[in-house]
Amino acid sequence: MTKSSLALLFWICLAVPVHAADAADVTRSRVEYVMGTMLEVRVAAADSTTAGVALDTAFAVVHRLDSTLSNYRSDSEISRMAASAPAPVPVSDDTFEFVRRSLELAELSGGAFDPTVGSLVAMWGFYSGDYRIPAEADLERARASVGYRRVRLDERAQTVALDSGVIFDPGGAGKGFALERAQARLEAMGVRSFYFDFGGQVYRQGSDTVGIAVRHPRADTVSVTEVYFASGSVATSGDYERYFEMDGVRYAHVIDPRTGRPVVNRYAVSVFAPDPWMADVLSTALYVLGSDAGATLLEHFPGVGAMYLSHDGAGWYAGADSTWRALESR
Ligand code: ADP
Ligand code: MG
Repeated sequence: MTKSSLALLFWICLAVPVHAADAADVTRSRVEYVMGTMLEVRVAAADSTTAGVALDTAFAVVHRLDSTLSNYRSDSEISRMAASAPAPVPVSDDTFEFVRRSLELAELSGGAFDPTVGSLVAMWGFYSGDYRIPAEADLERARASVGYRRVRLDERAQTVALDSGVIFDPGGAGKGFALERAQARLEAMGVRSFYFDFGGQVYRQGSDTVGIAVRHPRADTVSVTEVYFASGSVATSGDYERYFEMDGVRYAHVIDPRTGRPVVNRYAVSVFAPDPWMADVLSTALYVLGSDAGATLLEHFPGVGAMYLSHDGAGWYAGADSTWRALESR
């Protein structure tokens, strides 16, 4: 397919995404900056008052989780865990659940996904923007405070205790968790048709099947493919949003906790999952694991599909599993 026909396809797909509702429904949308990126929400409801309240509710949930889970705010629960380490810190239901499930995926992925990766993310400069290739000794030091077993949960007391020096990084899972919690509130209000675009992660629910475009890692107006579904989420982990280049190597913000280094030459991994939490955590996990080990991990997740976009001397190519391929045909 030529570049211009790909671009055309992209704009056609953009035009379709969200007629999620009955013809009589009223659709409302809003965009706000939250969790370090843009969140667009569109909802369809029986009347404009309900649609407006639904939008307010969805944004309120995400803003609240941003202030609880952020590791950029010193007063968040996540930051308090680090400040009080190694003492246990009582946390809210949401934070406890967030940490518990993040650790579960860390275990399941053999530590490829690991929310305790913060010291390494800091060492490479991804928090400050002061990017650098760390000295070997500094890397070793940072690695000493990475590892999901350095977090202890007490279910009964609802506390989290980090080993001293551990920085808990919510970045690989926060958006998916927030989308899941926002959906629960919309569901409770009786709103079943919605569309979220959270910094590129799409989550929609509706009665009609629509095409969702996946962008090219080097051109945001070009789509590489589109997947068709009525309800579900697509998340991408890529090397094109937060990265730096040194001596011709691109270092992006997903780090392999097992080596202490950013994963290189992975470009982009997209995941479709029925729920947004899984799409978010699994795209990060598969970005670290690559397609072979990634396929083994996905055996635990029926209904989840993945696409790896890669590049070699001959150009770009996409490798996808059968679940993803099936979504590509209408
Ligand atoms: P995006 O933020 O673009 O949606 P991801 O969901 O893949 O991308 O999350 C990347 C973020 O996750 C990084 O910025 C960092 O905060 C955190 N992170 C980096 N490496 C890992 C890892 N191996 N496991 C868990 N989280 C990670
Ligand atoms: Mg993620």
